[in-house]
Amino acid sequence: MEYTPIPIPDALDPEDEGTVLKVLRQNLKQYLFYERGKRAPLCPICGNSVTAPSMHEVLMPRNLVQRNSFNVKVQIHVSQNCVLLHEPDCHRFAQHDPEGKEMCVKQLIEFEGYRNIVDWLNHMNSITTVVAKEPTRYFMNFIKENYG
Ligand SMILES: [Zn+2]
Repeated sequence: MEYTPIPIPDALDPEDEGTVLKVLRQNLKQYLFYERGKRAPLCPICGNSVTAPSMHEVLMPRNLVQRNSFNVKVQIHVSQNCVLLHEPDCHRFAQHDPEGKEMCVKQLIEFEGYRNIVDWLNHMNSITTVVAKEPTRYFMNFIKENYG
């Protein structure tokens, strides 16, 4: 199934972009909490349930796309890219330790399926080749090494 991009509102005032992103993040967080909560929303790092989670972008973090278009900033806020976890230690480990990143990617694959993530990455490559290249290489390599 092809990835369906999140629609961008027509004639959006650039001043409102921050608000749109904020609402998008809140909605995604809520969606992940209830959707993944069916199997108990477990932190990918420590394995305990998360009742007051933070949301973390795993494959394409916000700082990676900060110079990209608004559309690119929107399209990283999807279930294929985000996990819920604890502050502060679990989040820090996920962000800064390669093993933490791997734990998050495993959870993404478990919940979203490898194919959905590849479809999303393909879309990201179609809108921002330069920035999406390394996350895609990382993911394909991860699949080869862990599931190949
Ligand atoms: Zn945790």
